[in-house]
This record gives sequence, structure tokens and C-alpha cells, in this order.
Amino acid sequence: MCKLHSAYNASMSFDPASFSSSLIAWQRMHGRNDLPWQGKDPYRVWLSEIMLQQTQVATVIPYYLRFVDAFPNVGALARASEEEVLSCWSGLGYYARGRNLHRAARMIMESHGGEFPKQYEDILNLPGIGRSTAAAISAQAFGEKRAILDGNVKRLLARYCGIKGHGKQVEDGLWKIAESLLPDEEVAVYTQALMDMGAMLCRRSKPMCCSCPVKNGCVAFNAGCVHELPTPKPKKKVPERYATFLLALNGAEIMLEKRDPSGIWGGLWSLPQIEDGISLHDWKIVERIEMPKLVHTFTHFRLRISPLLLKLEEKPEHQRKHSWMRVDEALQAAIPTPVRNLLLSL
Ligand code: SF4
Repeated sequence: MCKLHSAYNASMSFDPASFSSSLIAWQRMHGRNDLPWQGKDPYRVWLSEIMLQQTQVATVIPYYLRFVDAFPNVGALARASEEEVLSCWSGLGYYARGRNLHRAARMIMESHGGEFPKQYEDILNLPGIGRSTAAAISAQAFGEKRAILDGNVKRLLARYCGIKGHGKQVEDGLWKIAESLLPDEEVAVYTQALMDMGAMLCRRSKPMCCSCPVKNGCVAFNAGCVHELPTPKPKKKVPERYATFLLALNGAEIMLEKRDPSGIWGGLWSLPQIEDGISLHDWKIVERIEMPKLVHTFTHFRLRISPLLLKLEEKPEHQRKHSWMRVDEALQAAIPTPVRNLLLSL
């Protein structure tokens, strides 16, 4: 067991100038410098930062390219309907991000004359933007000296400074460290370096310490306890929920249900669920097939889905919130990933 700090304290001494200059030099040589959102356009930086929350770069790139093609600037995004925005977001998950982007674009039109705000506090006030994301936009688009602390950077700093534990005190300490290590210049490159280090070298598993530009000053590396940090949080048992999804088909058309604007898959088209009290009483069912079950994991629970394919002779009486769409059209609409996979399997 290594001797580690359980919190940041002022007596800890690191050499910020050496840390940041090593990272900046490494980023220039080995970092990611051809990402499609890199540059000073705050709209593109913002978009990428939101898409990259919870999602890896390789997954984000095609979505990002499609999104900027459809909505090349804040005005275009604000003018779009929520349906159009969500259909472009469809498959990327965590749909609140897409809805917040849309709301934020409308706020920028109303409160900032259509120009992406430059002030950190104004950026932080936009929906869907927390402290680290606001700092990443400020640093990358406007060169402001602001510290970021996303999951990757927390891991890197916890190891570099040898900080164990978790919780508010540890988090506050990591923010202080992140701020103390900021360089006075080249903040945009330094910010990208932190992100690249977290993704490329100081990875959760199999970190590449031998190639690390700051290994000489890294507490965890020198104490041989890289794998102990960051301290894992105790695992909570993920609750499970169950749902029977109806794939009601009439010819080439399928019955879909628009989800309420808030909550899971808010505003998306989904499949009707038996649990919502839908009555099949007078449906003219020609064929009924139980399809293979599937599991979809959300942040706070796991959904076990039993899909039931019902081939209908005719469409039942119109029911509230339900619409009929051709399956090929449905695949272009704003639908969550499990629904997309089920439609593709028909
Ligand atoms: S030496 Fe290893 S643990 Fe330390 S910062 Fe570098 S990659 Fe991370």
C-alpha cells in the first residue's frame, strides 16, 4: 500500500511551469491536432465539448460532422425544431445534451444577439454547461486562463499528485491543483494536452507511463501505485426495470409514441409499452412474435426490454400520443438506440 495524500494541502509542492511546459511540448508533438472542431470558433468548440461528455472522440466525430453540416452556426441551430435537432442527435445517447444545446442556442439568439458569449459567467449560465465545460470553451475558443476538471483530468491529477479518496473534499482539492498548475500562456494547447494525456497516456487501464512527459514528477508513478488511483468509488447495485415494447406493424408502417419532453428519451419517438396501459383488446392481430430480449443501460438503472412484434390486419383506433410511420422513415427520425436496433432487425 502506498503512502498517499487524502486531500490537497498547501504544503504540497509541484512545479507548475515544468508540468505545463512538458504537457504543451508533448501535445504539439504527439497530441491530437487534427480533430474537426479544433480552432477558435466557439460554436464548434461548444458543440464538441457537449458531445464529448460521456462519449469518446471516435464515436463523436461522425455525429459532430453531421450536426455542423445540418446546423453550421448558432442561428441555424436556434431556428431548427427540437425534432430536427434530436433526429440529428439520434444514437449518440444522453438526449438531454441535445435538448440543452437547442435551448442554449435560442438563449444566445435572445440574450446575446446571436453571438456566442465570451464571458465565462455567461457561458456557465447556458443550459447544459458546468464549470469544467465552460472553462474548456473559454480556454480553447478565447484563450482564457481557466482550469478544466473532467473525468480524465481528475484521474491524471489524482495520480500525478498522489491524491487518494473521493468525495467533495477530494474534488475541491483537485480543482485547486488544476488551477495552480495553469500556465499563463498557451492555455488552449495546455487544455488540449490535458485532454489528450487523459485519453492517450494516463488511461484508466494500461496507462502508458513510460511515454509520459511528466513521469519524473508523478507521485503515483514514482511510488509504484498508479493502479490504486483514482480510488474507486464503492460500486452501487444498478436497479433494474422491465418493459414490453410493442412493434405494431401494419404493412410497412409501425406505431410509434412521442415521449414526454422531460425524462428518459424525452421528446424522442419510441415504441409503445404495455406497462403504459395500452389496450390490445380490439386489435386485429394476424401474427404475434416474441423477439429476443435486450438490455439497455442508463446512468441510474438497467432496462430489460421484451420486444413483442404484432402484425396487424388494420390500424387500431387512433390513440393519444401514437403515430404511424413507415419503418424506413422512422429510422431517420429521433429514436433511441434500442428502438433503432429493433427496427433494423425487422
Ligand atoms: S506517469 Fe503514468 S500515472 Fe503519472 S501522469 Fe504519467 S501516465 Fe499518468
